[in-house]
Amino acid sequence: MPQFHIWTVGCQVNTADSAKLAAGLQRLGFEQTDQPRDAQLVVLNTCAVRQHAEDKATAKLGTLKRMRLERPEMRVAVMGCMVGPRTARRDDPLSKRFPWVDAWAQPQQFDEIVKLLDLPDLPELAQAEDDGGEFWPQVFPHETRPTAYVPVIEGCDKFCTYCIVPLRRGRERSRPIAEVRREIEAHLARGVREVTLLGQTVEAYGKDQPPVDPRTNHADLFDLMAEIHDLDGLLRIRQLTSYPPDMTDRILEGMATLPKVCEAFSLPVQSGSDDVLTNMRRGYSVAQFRDRVEKVRSLWPQAGISTDVIVGFPGESDADFQATYDLLAELRFDKVHVAAYSPRAGTYAERRQPDDLPPELKSERLHAIEELQREVSSQINAGYLLRDVEVIVEELKPAEDAANERLTGRTRTMKLVHFDAPAGSLRAGDAATVTVTRTGAWSLQGIPART
Ligand code: SF4
Repeated sequence: MPQFHIWTVGCQVNTADSAKLAAGLQRLGFEQTDQPRDAQLVVLNTCAVRQHAEDKATAKLGTLKRMRLERPEMRVAVMGCMVGPRTARRDDPLSKRFPWVDAWAQPQQFDEIVKLLDLPDLPELAQAEDDGGEFWPQVFPHETRPTAYVPVIEGCDKFCTYCIVPLRRGRERSRPIAEVRREIEAHLARGVREVTLLGQTVEAYGKDQPPVDPRTNHADLFDLMAEIHDLDGLLRIRQLTSYPPDMTDRILEGMATLPKVCEAFSLPVQSGSDDVLTNMRRGYSVAQFRDRVEKVRSLWPQAGISTDVIVGFPGESDADFQATYDLLAELRFDKVHVAAYSPRAGTYAERRQPDDLPPELKSERLHAIEELQREVSSQINAGYLLRDVEVIVEELKPAEDAANERLTGRTRTMKLVHFDAPAGSLRAGDAATVTVTRTGAWSLQGIPART
């Protein structure tokens, strides 16, 4: 059976795209391998949000070159956010640098990849089929883990000045509720117990759809969650990534009435300075952001909230940076993903907002935030000590003691929990109650709770 290999970097949307492409290729008669040297088709699913991710992809291409030249039957495709509408042209810098790449496919343009396979009779699936929100809408990934990512809205309409995503993934397109429900049913039949509904700004779900009834509004994220909430076997529902102006009271208050919806949010702030937020065109002020955090905490006092921050954005003064630092110290997030600004080719910021801060200063600011957050995360996690938490088992490994297994799962608030349990007593996907016995900045450890 011919084999394919997919290498993925970047966000959860990329992970979901790779899983879907894999499912489609399997339906076309191919088998997945983790060894590129065995594969007839190698796909790199790339990310262009940070320079580091681009560097990883170009390094990977460097290692594939020899393999590709030695094995003429091998095909290499690059897809994802590094690929723009002109990348396939011969004069594009990327295709000039890697002329031996066989296909350049923008996110979800799987047809460009399937064409490489030279299949005599393309099954219906392989015909270009775009249902508005998703390519190959009837192909559902084959999850082997108890958790699954389910894209519910593609693209982004926000156009933050530094961000490449709207230029690569296009405008917001929501998938129909019935299609999302069918995909989740397929996951549940394979043992999935937790789904994460994905979108670049997930609370924008449904805005691009017509109203359910001309007198009412469109269906929103809460309506979607309510529609899947009754599915048998589904234990948890999560959502990712939040965008403050789209987080309406209706959505949040509705979510709080659904017990399977977890109290965990990924809510990027990016800066604590109104001037920088305006320069980024983030579309909200610090006060509006704070209001949404307070709303979440009023509904779920124990909510786990993570955020993203960019330091060293063009023009960020000492006072701007201090405002970010102070906001993080005040709001005390469970986790902060911090990155030093680097211009992304093709964005407004790259063209109009000179990258004017020295790398040493960016690095100093980044480390200051990391240092602050290590302390905050340690303190928040220490609050879990001796508490019983519910986890869904995601991984099992042999423990030091042969009678036990080392299990890993997450709390509803997204805390990573490691614990030992008697071998064979729990399986992936089982819910377990764990008493937390040790805490650190990045994870918790515990023992099965006494019943
Ligand atoms: S909200 Fe802004 S940062 Fe997020 S994907 Fe859209 S444009 Fe990019």
